[in-house]
Amino acid sequence: ILLPIDENHDQIRSNVKNAVFSEVTPRPLERNLRLVCSSDDALSTILDMDPEIANREEFIDFIAGKKLPYGALPVAHRYGGHQYGLWVGQLGDGRAHILGEYVNRRGERWQIQLKGSGQTPYSRVHDGRAVLRSVIREMIASEACHFLGIPTTRAAGVVVSDEAVIRDIYYTGCPRREHAAVILRVSPSWFRFGSLEILSRSSEVPVLRQLADFIIKEHFPDIHLSDENRFIRLFSEVAHRTLDLVAKWQGLGFAHGLLNTDNMSMLGFTLDYGPFGFVDSYDGGYVANCSDGEGRYALAKQPDVVVWNIGQLANAIKPLLTSSQQVHMSHIQKTLDTYCKNKILETFLMKIGLKEERWGDEQLIEKLLDMMQQTGADFTATFRQLAELEPCEMVSEVKLSEKWSLKRLSSHSSWGCWLDQYRERLDKEAVDASSLGVFEDERRRRMLSVNPVYVPRNWLLHEAIADAEKDDFQKVRFLLEVLRHPYDVQPEAELQGFSAQPPQWAYALKISCSS
Ligand code: AMP
Ligand code: MG
Ligand code: MG
Repeated sequence: ILLPIDENHDQIRSNVKNAVFSEVTPRPLERNLRLVCSSDDALSTILDMDPEIANREEFIDFIAGKKLPYGALPVAHRYGGHQYGLWVGQLGDGRAHILGEYVNRRGERWQIQLKGSGQTPYSRVHDGRAVLRSVIREMIASEACHFLGIPTTRAAGVVVSDEAVIRDIYYTGCPRREHAAVILRVSPSWFRFGSLEILSRSSEVPVLRQLADFIIKEHFPDIHLSDENRFIRLFSEVAHRTLDLVAKWQGLGFAHGLLNTDNMSMLGFTLDYGPFGFVDSYDGGYVANCSDGEGRYALAKQPDVVVWNIGQLANAIKPLLTSSQQVHMSHIQKTLDTYCKNKILETFLMKIGLKEERWGDEQLIEKLLDMMQQTGADFTATFRQLAELEPCEMVSEVKLSEKWSLKRLSSHSSWGCWLDQYRERLDKEAVDASSLGVFEDERRRRMLSVNPVYVPRNWLLHEAIADAEKDDFQKVRFLLEVLRHPYDVQPEAELQGFSAQPPQWAYALKISCSS
């Protein structure tokens, strides 16, 4: 459902009707284009390209929006959304262009998108550009999340130019000049909750139905278009995938930072990386986004706020349902909190090496997180280090002194008591194993495979970005390389302190929405 380019059309028209996409060409970046980085994996496994292509001028021109691929039909997508809990009406791709769909060698379909590629009918008052620091963050985080096992949109490369854009990072009234950059993103779909919300809110029901059917047809092969309950099934599938995603986030200490409904993917991917953060010292109240004064999107609140967002998706779908189907949908909604809570518990049990839930496990996890919060133990390092030592070693001062975060945790007055309970619990699970030694090895292997050594911590990104702003892209590229194997200890990354305690200044870092 395409709104065609119209010679006279206003590039910043604010209210589009009866369309899902608007045809609009990118405004290419010019002036001293440089490749900042690329993802070898995204290039080769998604786009069937030899990663060497990244060094060629035509590839740089492609990301800069100067050369469209053969057959491209550049469009901006119309969507709306709830921001910080309030309906804000039409948003849409204000600085992104979907170029089309690429069917790769494996038969997978990927939609190619440029972000930072100029104004569209959805730009409102904005310039259609993206700054280098924000696209680097998106590039590294999307690739890192992929390798961490978090469903996510992907990123294939970043190009920067000498074109200046003005941004006021902390909204202090002192804007500064930054470099405009473009990121090449790929995803099977860019539809968001807000894609349906805008149509529902503006009573465009036939288009709403057409889009919901299109999403089902393209992305949910198990749901049949002839099924009269298809929209309920779609809702249920999206809701559960989204909550599975939240469980992954919680398990890795990832705070998205801006969980507005326009940033919620219809396919359950992490979408739109802005002011996100992987928590360092564990704190359930951790707010990654310094523009989120109320802490609406605090780490521990993500499950609740996502369930609320799913409620907005339910509202959007309602006009497509009969009254009995609406009742059915509200029954599904009532189960979502519990579903999410169980998924998260399952995730944390895996992290401490337990495969099945038993009585008292929830308290075991809660107690651990409480101790972490009270001692300021590091989220990522604590779980990794719990996997690196044998529980019997966790009483030894000498052994603990080798593990900086565990050492901190063990200063808690309840540590000994918790450890006793944990060991008892592990023994219970080991009873059924034929040989204790084999069980222990297998358990530790399992724990090492779900507790990463490296995550894209904000201080690492901050240092890499500072260099990139001076035209030195080595740290960005190195981070991308290390984060391809986040569960493996890598000597070069260890030398650079990637898994060590973050420097003091890291704890005071602020990330804003400015991008
Ligand atoms: P975000 O907060 O990044 O999820 O974006 C919210 C909305 O603002 C989306 O519609 C974006 O396309 C739009 N937006 C953000 N920055 C810009 C920009 N520099 N130019 C045009 N639109 C923008
Ligand atoms: Mg967004
Ligand atoms: Mg954005």
